[in-house]
Amino acid sequence: MFKKVLIANRGEIAVRIIRACRELGIATVAVYSQADATSLHVKMADQAVCIGPPPNRDSYLSIPNIVTAAIITGCDAVHPGYGNLSETVAFAENCEIAGLKFIGPRPATIEQMQDKAQAKNLMERAGVPVIPGTKGVLTNEAEGLKTAKKLGYPVMIKAAAGGGGRGIRIVRSDDEFKRNLPLAQAEAQASFGRPEVYLEKYIEEPRHIEVQILADEFGNVVHLGERDCTVQKKSHQKLLEESPSVAITPQQRQQIGTWAVKGAKSVGYVSAGTMEFLLDRQGKVYFMEMNTRIQVEHCVTELVTGLDLLKWQIRIAAGEKLPFAQKDVELRGHAIECRVNAEDPNRNMMACAGVVKRFQAPGGPGVRVDTHLYSGYEVPAYYDSLLAKVVTWGRDRDEAIARMKRALGEMIVEGLPTTIPLFLRILDDEEFRAGTINTDFVPRKFHT
Ligand code: ADP
Ligand code: ADP
Ligand code: MG
Repeated sequence: MFKKVLIANRGEIAVRIIRACRELGIATVAVYSQADATSLHVKMADQAVCIGPPPNRDSYLSIPNIVTAAIITGCDAVHPGYGNLSETVAFAENCEIAGLKFIGPRPATIEQMQDKAQAKNLMERAGVPVIPGTKGVLTNEAEGLKTAKKLGYPVMIKAAAGGGGRGIRIVRSDDEFKRNLPLAQAEAQASFGRPEVYLEKYIEEPRHIEVQILADEFGNVVHLGERDCTVQKKSHQKLLEESPSVAITPQQRQQIGTWAVKGAKSVGYVSAGTMEFLLDRQGKVYFMEMNTRIQVEHCVTELVTGLDLLKWQIRIAAGEKLPFAQKDVELRGHAIECRVNAEDPNRNMMACAGVVKRFQAPGGPGVRVDTHLYSGYEVPAYYDSLLAKVVTWGRDRDEAIARMKRALGEMIVEGLPTTIPLFLRILDDEEFRAGTINTDFVPRKFHT
């Protein structure tokens, strides 16, 4: 097992990783920007190193600064968390060159899955159904027009290196396509450093269903059931996730689980990972992309499986073998996660910063809170708006929902507007309760 792990991230996920390391008896090194000196992960880690000025590119995205921090503190491994450098091939490679184990898949696997168009090709070859579209990235406008005609409008233009819900455009005609193609390419270049885009059929009123997998270095791959992330903003950012999904049958669960395992095996995947799918109105499921990292919403899977995904991810990286097989994975009860973000409902849910004057986390049966908040903490303006994840477990969905309402009602975050009021409305919504929603639910009903 590792002796000391550097955590190349901030916020709640840095705290989550420190907790996993501590339970495994591993020492931790936090890194932080000048804007994060008073952050909880800095206080909680055994050691902390300042890696630069506030902007992400100068600190949490600085490969030399982070690798150097790991070397001078004598770390033997690096955990990248999510976002930031978690899916950056050069970071994983540089860690390995420096003799640091990157806690995630091999750099070559990250590279294969990072280009979302290429990932779809690989999965299709492995026998997994994928959302129809261009085979690989779009090479020119004429090819795009031809493909769009074949698929039928509307179609999606998506950035091959996109993520976080960004870099996705819907177009409804040849004219719109021609107008949006250069814009999409420029936006992709600016946001993700690569201009490539691909085309995809627009799935009407879809649900987002994803499958968690764990794969060790010995070829053992298991899936841990699905998460339903259909409650999203208009900008395709997930707000609320749950497991199991109310929209699929046990047969479908088994089918997509089998696809996820087959897809992961076909690329020799190692580590925790997620295969994302869309479910259409006819009940057909298509592969959309793979995230080669731990996800924000991993906690709901932890609550229904009883497995600690962070600890398994670390153990697998340390060369341990998964001691359980697919038949040993039992899904119990129902779990829901709400992403409590610092966002202002009066300003179109714009992210906001400022001092959290008072913070009180909810508790009691079936409630888990992953957060970096404390009373008096100042939320910096530079990073994403996630403040806390409130996760509840119940014997069934109704109990999980009742506990979530109770927990969010108990929670106190003073000084900043949050998404809590929005969640309280969602949790009481008839369509949400009935489980009949699609990704259009939040934009249509809550104008967000
Ligand atoms: P998850 O897939 O775990 O639900 P999100 O899509 O909410 O995660 O993204 C988690 C964080 O990672 C967010 O801060 C998001 O902006 C960032 N992120 C994810 N993918 C990318 C990417 N390709 N480029 C830049 N940031 C990304
Ligand atoms: P990211 O890399 O940003 O996570 P994804 O490809 O996973 O992007 O898509 C994010 C969300 O965008 C999906 O959950 C879904 O709501 C919407 N979306 C993406 N592709 C399509 C599509 N072809 N049809 C309909 N909705 C889509
Ligand atoms: Mg995605």
